[in-house]
Amino acid sequence: APPIGVLALQGDVREHVAVLDSLGVRAVAVRRERELAGVAGLVIPGGESTTMIRLARTFGLLEPLRERIASGMPAFGTCAGMILLADRVLDGERGQETLGGLDVTVRRNAFGRQVDSSEREVSVRGLDAPVHAVFIRAPWVESAGPGVEVLARTEAATGPDDASAPDDGAGRIVMVRQGPLMATSFHPEVAGGSGVHRMFVDLVAVHTS
Ligand code: GLN
Repeated sequence: APPIGVLALQGDVREHVAVLDSLGVRAVAVRRERELAGVAGLVIPGGESTTMIRLARTFGLLEPLRERIASGMPAFGTCAGMILLADRVLDGERGQETLGGLDVTVRRNAFGRQVDSSEREVSVRGLDAPVHAVFIRAPWVESAGPGVEVLARTEAATGPDDASAPDDGAGRIVMVRQGPLMATSFHPEVAGGSGVHRMFVDLVAVHTS
């Protein structure tokens, strides 16, 4: 079977490859158009979404990525990768571009307003055990279209509702799937086990035949 690619312009490339390896899946770094052409699906790691778009353009990958996503290649974006797969971005740079494909609006650096980084246990639909989720200046999904499955949210707020309190990110959508595309606000490759990657491997299998 063709390998799964990890977009290797920036970010946690090795960590994603290692998790895929641990699942017995062949994973390759993708930096060139011909490498992209040979993969069955693509992981888009975290990093900096504006920088990744810029690098993708420099490497001649921007249009090839858009074309493959538009023609149904399975893709899994984490953090900045979620932003890249989103159709709409709030709090982005002016005119921030994405690859698009997911009918969601993401808010960039949403959790980053309060804390740059946090770790939470997140229950994911379809997984038995909660995932230890690492958030690093993470986006959240502000709204999702009707075709988008919400696979995880942060825990709902407990205690009395205080409208004057800063938004601590409770009850926010942090994992979605739509057709062959999935995305997480958090970094499952850091300390999240392999369950989320297994879901992507299954998604690739379903959409490749
Ligand atoms: N804040 C970054 C962005 O806007 C995403 C951070 C990450 O990927 N860890 O692109």
